[in-house]
Amino acid sequence: MFITADTAKARQRINSAKEQQKKVGFVPTMGTLHAGHLSLVQAARKDCRFVVASIFVNPLQFGPGEDYKKYPRNFSRDESLLKKAGVDLIFYPRAKTMYAHKFSTYIEEAFSAGVLCAKSRPGHFRGVCTVVGKLFNIIQPDVAYFGQKDYQQAQIIKKMAKDLNFPVQIKVLPIVREPDGLASSSRNTYLKASQRKEALALFAALKLAELLIKSGEGNPRKIISRMRALIKLHRLYRNLRRGYFRNIKSN
Ligand code: AMP
Repeated sequence: MFITADTAKARQRINSAKEQQKKVGFVPTMGTLHAGHLSLVQAARKDCRFVVASIFVNPLQFGPGEDYKKYPRNFSRDESLLKKAGVDLIFYPRAKTMYAHKFSTYIEEAFSAGVLCAKSRPGHFRGVCTVVGKLFNIIQPDVAYFGQKDYQQAQIIKKMAKDLNFPVQIKVLPIVREPDGLASSSRNTYLKASQRKEALALFAALKLAELLIKSGEGNPRKIISRMRALIKLHRLYRNLRRGYFRNIKSN
């Protein structure tokens, strides 16, 4: 497995794989890898004879006050996971390489601006599109793999690739979850044991929404209010249980 932070060296390796008629698969990540990322690598491994993974915590997609600085980073662990998974090249650029002094060119998918997550994270998708566009130009993959966990991101990237004629096929793969239903995520490392349990309410609420839709409920407001009620109930139940056990201990 070859590791480089250098754009020209990465291109050189990839070009020589292409000269050998190898199909190039690409998995962009921000590192601190888990089973979700590895499922994308596995899919790439199946389809392609040369697999590239990138590890880059992209400053451009973090808003002011977000967790860019404290985002978990663990390169040596990632390296050994990717090696085991059969990756051929890790592209591990520095922020200075990706965004040179006076960098001023961005990619913005305008249709989704101001809706869904873009409402609460202005500039986030612009950061994502810009970095993914740059990575597509550097790696020039035949196929790129994204997770359904970031559904909006995957749709926006598909649109960007189509609108801007990137010659790459985008594959979107299912969410990988922990055994109890919580979606695997690098940010799960932020959660204390109690918060980890609380987070399960989100999965339960999504399952409830699925059930309601399947049983004919078509009104999104009603579905959202039932989901909110379930999350509240989940919290109430956990608080009651906590209080109950505290009482037992103090008695
Ligand atoms: P990230 O490192 O969070 O930027 O994620 C890199 C890629 O892995 C993105 O395409 C994510 O959607 C995907 N991914 C992250 N978590 C999961 C998961 N639990 N299941 C499937 N794909 C995931």
